[in-house]
Amino acid sequence: MERLGEREKSVHEAFGWAARDSSGHLSPFVFSRRETGEEEVRVKVLYCGICHSDLHCLKNEWHSSIYPLVPGHEIVGEVSEIGRKVSKFNIGDKVGVGCIVDSCRACESCREDQENYCTKAVATYNGVHNDGTVNYGGYSDHVVVDERYAVKIPHMLPLASAAPLLCAGISMYSPMKYFGLAGPGKHVGIVGLGGLGHIGVRFAKAFGTKVTVVSSTAGKCKDALENLGADGFLVSTDEDQMQAAMGTMDGIIDTVSASHSIVPLIGLLKSNGKLVLLSAAEKPFDLPSFSLIMGRKSVVGSGIGGMKETQEMIDFAAEHGIEADVEIISMEYVNTAMDRLAKGDVRYRFVIDIANTLVAASRS
Ligand code: NAP
Ligand code: ZN
Repeated sequence: MERLGEREKSVHEAFGWAARDSSGHLSPFVFSRRETGEEEVRVKVLYCGICHSDLHCLKNEWHSSIYPLVPGHEIVGEVSEIGRKVSKFNIGDKVGVGCIVDSCRACESCREDQENYCTKAVATYNGVHNDGTVNYGGYSDHVVVDERYAVKIPHMLPLASAAPLLCAGISMYSPMKYFGLAGPGKHVGIVGLGGLGHIGVRFAKAFGTKVTVVSSTAGKCKDALENLGADGFLVSTDEDQMQAAMGTMDGIIDTVSASHSIVPLIGLLKSNGKLVLLSAAEKPFDLPSFSLIMGRKSVVGSGIGGMKETQEMIDFAAEHGIEADVEIISMEYVNTAMDRLAKGDVRYRFVIDIANTLVAASRS
């Protein structure tokens, strides 16, 4: 009996790294996970990407952080336990968990496979589960999730570089499809060449869309053109370059993580063009109405994607060999990685090797 008791305890005990306050400093944290429900899977986390949203949240830049906070919503792992009614997954399957782990499942958004826009969608971390507990994310040894909110990772995708697809990938794929920017004859601008931006370039090329990177870092030009395959590169602070490109783009996807002016970006759009904001910077944008009136332009937003579309995106990535350029790090390195991410010093996504480095770090 004792041994069984020990086993049950170990099933629910979890290790992760958490921030305790808005300094954002992460350190080892022991907590517990619920039992695997009938329609849920328990996932041993193998890799977890570091999204800039993790950094915004750690530092409470959105004024909604609940501490202790275990970030992580670019999770790739292996199913270790399944509930009685699970039909999509088997033990040992490689799965991905992204930014949401629940939604109301009944509203128009949920019925239309856009759970990401459900007003009751529950975030993978810093979200409140229906039993009242606060969710902890993927900087931890395992997660428990309803099978509806997990996706299959095709065999051909390398796991570490697939992890960023769960947030960065779907966040770029979804607006390009929805706003009609995914295909030959279209020209998209991608502003900010970071985690989201670089995957966006790869998706745009796979769609056959012409893509121009708009970056504040001139030093990224060679890599954007030669490694990522962008068709053009503009330095956003170079007025001559920006002026020459006025009125040339059908759409722009803005992924800049810091406050910046969007008026010059709107100038790059053709008539009827759309500036899609993914950027979740703390401060609101200035938006003079004449920048939109002249050319019937729109400024819109987009947030990740639904579960069906996330699976579609992962399958598309596997088919077209799209993966993120990653720097794989140990859990111990995470605070240094956050400092580097804040300075834009990453090409282009940090991914934590959770399976090989977390437990040792947590117990030390
Ligand atoms: P990231 O890897 O840090 O990349 C952001 C890029 O923005 C940087 O590489 C840099 O590109 C540019 N940038 C940063 N500071 C700048 C400044 N002061 N002025 C001009 N450009 C600057 O971040 P990420 O993970 O891609 O996330 C980007 C943003 O999207 C974050 O705000 C994040 O929270 C948000 N996000 C939104 C969604 C969504 O669904 N809407 C999903 C995920 C993340 P250059 O060097 O090329 O200029
Ligand atoms: Zn994210």
